[in-house]
Amino acid sequence: MAQVNDVLEASDEAVRAAVRSALLTVDDPEYPGLSIVDLGLVELVKTQGSNVTVGLIPTFSGCPALAMIASDVKLAVELCDEVQSCTVEWLPAPVWSTGRLSEAGETRLADNFTVVLRRKDGTLRCPVCGSDAVTDQSMAGPTRCRSVAWCGSCRNPIEVMR
Ligand SMILES: [Zn+2]
Repeated sequence: MAQVNDVLEASDEAVRAAVRSALLTVDDPEYPGLSIVDLGLVELVKTQGSNVTVGLIPTFSGCPALAMIASDVKLAVELCDEVQSCTVEWLPAPVWSTGRLSEAGETRLADNFTVVLRRKDGTLRCPVCGSDAVTDQSMAGPTRCRSVAWCGSCRNPIEVMR
């Protein structure tokens, strides 16, 4: 944590910039390498001098990773020289949807985790071979955030983010 004398010098803008880069280093524990920013979890950053409040929205309520994300955010943000303290709030609204994922986030999910997003029309595309021959297998995925599907073309199991 920074010394009080140092943080008094930091402007609001400097604090915000520092917080933004700190948030980029926080990954979703279920998707190492994918930041909560790319996942679209960060809704707001409020600063009051060097005291920061970060408002996050959960991907899916009840996801066990939430407590870990909150403490990772607090740790990362409080490491900034410009920040004295960080409070993390889970916001009840807006509701997270796959549309909040950045393009980089979506690509990384498909490439690194064989996780896909359901299209608006309900169809799925295999992240491994690109085939549309993906069928839902089970609604009970590894976590409540995901379900499992199966590609009939390359025969890989695929996780679907809901
Ligand atoms: Zn496939």
